Amino acid sequence: QSKAIGGHSFRFYAPAMNERQQRLLALESELHRALERREFVLHYQPQANLATGEISGVEALLRWNHSKRGLVAPNDFIPLLEETGLIDEVGLWVLRQACQDMLQLKAEYGHAPRVSVNLSARQFSSGCLAEKVAAVLRDTRLPAEQLELEITEQMLINDLESSRSTLGALRDLGVTVAIDDFGTGYCSLAYLKRLPLHVLKIDRTFVSGLPGDLNDLAIVEAITLLAHKLDLQVIAEGVETAAQLETLRALGCDMVQGYYLSKPVPLDKLGSAAALTV
Ligand code: C2E
Ligand code: MG
Ligand code: MG
Ligand code: MG
Repeated sequence: QSKAIGGHSFRFYAPAMNERQQRLLALESELHRALERREFVLHYQPQANLATGEISGVEALLRWNHSKRGLVAPNDFIPLLEETGLIDEVGLWVLRQACQDMLQLKAEYGHAPRVSVNLSARQFSSGCLAEKVAAVLRDTRLPAEQLELEITEQMLINDLESSRSTLGALRDLGVTVAIDDFGTGYCSLAYLKRLPLHVLKIDRTFVSGLPGDLNDLAIVEAITLLAHKLDLQVIAEGVETAAQLETLRALGCDMVQGYYLSKPVPLDKLGSAAALTV
């Protein structure tokens, strides 16, 4: 049918079909330019150790400082970076910048927390992740123990065998690996035991119901017990109230992260945010 109207057929359906694609195309070239113009910035959210009260970690969170739209949140552009493959370059920039920033903190304060960097599925399955991480550590001279990488359950189970070898190579470098948003995916407990992992980050959907919701209470308690049996550290995400923090402390959680302590802040604000103790 479309053949019958030959060369004009595209006119019939192209506008509707292409509106979204055109928007994506425009956004893609904007993201290209953003990389050249250095419009990406990292904010850092402190993670407090409940045993010592110290800020022993920070999570690097990507923002796009858009000339007109202001600070754009990662959920609004990371999916497109993934889709277009631009995430390889941006992800590597994030890794390098986060390491450099920690060294800058060390120069200023004499010490720096461990920095946790989120990886995208594409980066994790690229096959040369450990080499790239090794190169960044070598170039920046950040000690490997000060770098943590966050992956999700889904990334792990996509290809268990290659996950195992990637994780093994990262462990050999001395880098720690955290499972982000834990409890929201389908990772079997057997995997956790058999893979070289170090940290479970309990998703904030389970934290938000504390202390009142008995199901959330049970889930967080069970995850914490399990993690400790498997020699994993537990971080609770999305801690927004004092009551949540005290509940997590009582449940034996190792670390907390969330707005109650601090929102993600630019590096130069981290000094004052990190002065906080819990
Ligand atoms: P995530 O890794 O689970 O990061 C936690 C998100 O929760 C962050 O959102 C953080 O700002 C937010 N958050 C922290 N504390 C609280 C709280 O107390 N309450 C609430 N409601 N939210 C809290 P953000 O910065 O918008 O990042 C969203 C997601 O984007 C991240 O989730 C991560 O999956 C992804 N992302 C961020 N930076 C990067 C990056 O450099 N590379 C990749 N691949 N993904 C990234
Ligand atoms: Mg994360
Ligand atoms: Mg998370
Ligand atoms: Mg999350």
